[in-house]
Amino acid sequence: MPELPEVEVLRRSLAPRLTGRRIASVTVRQRALREAVPAARLARELPGRRVEGLRRRGKYLLVDLERDRTLVVHLGMSGRLTVAPDSVSVEAHEHVSFALTEGGRLRYRDPRRFGLVLLLATARLERDRHFARLGLEPLDGELTGERLAAGARGRRGPVKAFLMDAGVLVGVGNIYACEALHSAGIHPARSVARLSAARWERLAVAVRATLADAIEQGGTTLNDFTDGEGNAGYFQAALAAYGREGEPCRRCGRPIRRIVQAGRSTFYCGGCQR
Ligand code: ZN
Repeated sequence: MPELPEVEVLRRSLAPRLTGRRIASVTVRQRALREAVPAARLARELPGRRVEGLRRRGKYLLVDLERDRTLVVHLGMSGRLTVAPDSVSVEAHEHVSFALTEGGRLRYRDPRRFGLVLLLATARLERDRHFARLGLEPLDGELTGERLAAGARGRRGPVKAFLMDAGVLVGVGNIYACEALHSAGIHPARSVARLSAARWERLAVAVRATLADAIEQGGTTLNDFTDGEGNAGYFQAALAAYGREGEPCRRCGRPIRRIVQAGRSTFYCGGCQR
């Protein structure tokens, strides 16, 4: 499942290919994604509008268009967004595509159909129900140990689940939660009620560094993630904990362990994560 780094890599690869271009027409072949694609509204409102820029909020990619419209795309489990030349024919699972006035099309493919394609008023985006309750944006200078500790006040439960709670912090899923906790030397099952200020700070630093490294490496190519040109990422080669059960910890040499928390696999080192 794409997490924040993959969506950021996608944003960076698509921005130069879309900014300044105009949408000519919209084709919706399958409306039944996680929420119904607003096909009639897309067809009515998008043609002729110019792309002003691409932003990201958590795992949502935001394509800002002129005159107060933002096309919102969430990749769900298996979504892919690419710009294809006109010579590329429609492939399986290409549910929505946006023809560009100077040729080519932005196409959304999603075999498992857990993704989203929405159209919102740019000015009201933050109040929309998809965005109103989102937590800290980890790479915008908002994420500090103090903010994390404040978010955990009065709460219990394992720190890993806390990190993956989008109401606290956006865009950190299973892979990067495991990696950040390994980097910070914090046991994933430790209660958030029992973390010192120094350890919250170490965790904030680890989350930021892990995400930044993953973006640098083009994301993690598990579940077939690629950027807007179809390029794979390389961060999986740098994973220190995730998916490495039984392999030696790169810091202390003890074997990486796997436990199941809230139905998801957690990978950690029993030697250096306390
Ligand atoms: Zn270790």
